[in-house]
Amino acid sequence: MEYEPVIGLEVHAQLNTSTKIFCSCSTEFGAPPNTHICPVCTGQPGVLPVLNKKVVEYAIKMGLATHCTIARVSRFARKNYFYPDLPKGYQISQYELPLAEHGFVEILVDGDTKRIGLTRIHMEEDAGKLVHPGSFTDTPYSLVDYNRSGVPLIEIVSEPDMRSPREAGAYLRTLRAILRYLEISDGNMEEGSFRCDANISVRPRGSEKFGTRTELKNMNSFRNVEKALEYEIERQIAVLESGETVVQETRLWDAAAGVTRTMRGKEEADDYRYFPDPDLLPLVVEESWVEDVRKSLPELPSEKRDRLVSQYGIPLYDAEVITAEKAVADYFEACVAVCDAPKQASNWVMVEVLRELKESKREITDFPVTARHLGEMILMIEKGTISGKIAKTVFAEMVATGDPPEKIVREKNLIQVTDQEAIEAVIDEVLSENPEQVDRYRGGKTKLLGFFVGQVMKKTKGKANPQMVNKILKEKLDK
Ligand code: ADP
Ligand code: MG
Ligand code: ZN
Repeated sequence: MEYEPVIGLEVHAQLNTSTKIFCSCSTEFGAPPNTHICPVCTGQPGVLPVLNKKVVEYAIKMGLATHCTIARVSRFARKNYFYPDLPKGYQISQYELPLAEHGFVEILVDGDTKRIGLTRIHMEEDAGKLVHPGSFTDTPYSLVDYNRSGVPLIEIVSEPDMRSPREAGAYLRTLRAILRYLEISDGNMEEGSFRCDANISVRPRGSEKFGTRTELKNMNSFRNVEKALEYEIERQIAVLESGETVVQETRLWDAAAGVTRTMRGKEEADDYRYFPDPDLLPLVVEESWVEDVRKSLPELPSEKRDRLVSQYGIPLYDAEVITAEKAVADYFEACVAVCDAPKQASNWVMVEVLRELKESKREITDFPVTARHLGEMILMIEKGTISGKIAKTVFAEMVATGDPPEKIVREKNLIQVTDQEAIEAVIDEVLSENPEQVDRYRGGKTKLLGFFVGQVMKKTKGKANPQMVNKILKEKLDK
């Protein structure tokens, strides 16, 4: 039997406000433990939460950017459970009346766009952090840091609309790009400011009814989410094939072992005894506020992508890669403004620039090669001042020194040789040094042309214009 996976994702994104959601403590990351805390975020008796307006504004932004309906009235609710990182004994979240509902995002997989529905986006507070230093006596112990307690989150819940791990990966990348374009979250999965719980089930292909799902946690990269889903699909299929049933439960991804393991049985909403938080009034969002926020929205990733395609005529795929980060798209546009060669620019940005950034773990804003310099270099290729091959050398030098390309080309004497006589002289030399190959070529082994081109390039240190070399070589060999 053939099976089809069904995937729905819950994403928690940390909002980058400077203060927490219900108190004025700093949200700064990396401070010494328990230095950004107060009676409110440590749950002392008698305190009252005060909602941070910025959090609501950011959540509305995300709602609008993902085509959600913004609720005129929403409510905060208490989600009750005990854990040492949750001093109040409940988390303030939203339940029956979330801020935003019924949205969607469009993902691009293998050149096809697909709409993924968003069930809801709600606001909530983060919990503290437990640290397990091990044991110094026979008794294991844990430490708790409440700096993160009360840091604002939005939870974005998707419909079960994804049908493959790759679609899930594309969805996550799309959400992250939107959050970063809106500048409301840094979307960093490794640092935990973007977390994903993945719900997955399988069903016989063609069946309407969803299978029983498991919920996967503990994936700290997009790649790991995809891998965990791939593993879980195989595991669930094997369970069904052996005649057993999938148990609804929460499973943890073990990246080192490449497997998911049972963590706990799935808790139901009932278990949390949700009820409206009596300390917080219903949240009323005026239409005029929503409209103001709507007007403030920047050009979003998919809009920018489509504009790059129509304005510069670059392929959709290129535009998707380039617009994943706004700063990269800005760089590309600044580069095209200089060289006026969009496809060349997109190739250089997609391949060389992104590779360099990845290898050096740098942001494009710290990249030594400015958009202007890359544009100038592309212009030198376009004008024939340097060859495409030499350009690689120039680019590497630009990365190493940050120097403008014309300085590098001048100082390293890399200008392309386009002087007909000079090239002919080198070609004559090569032909007279390799009489045997010349005979074989003329005897029909025309593939040897590449050999001659290589020899000429070697003698000119790669500086001869390749089109001219080819043309002159052919003329001389074929006569
Ligand atoms: P909770 O995890 O708190 O119970 P929900 O009931 O809102 O939350 O569902 C969580 C996620 O599970 C949603 O993203 C939804 O799309 C997804 N989901 C629901 N049913 C299935 C299923 N049978 N297979 C895969 N995903 C599912
Ligand atoms: Mg869940
Ligand atoms: Zn506080």
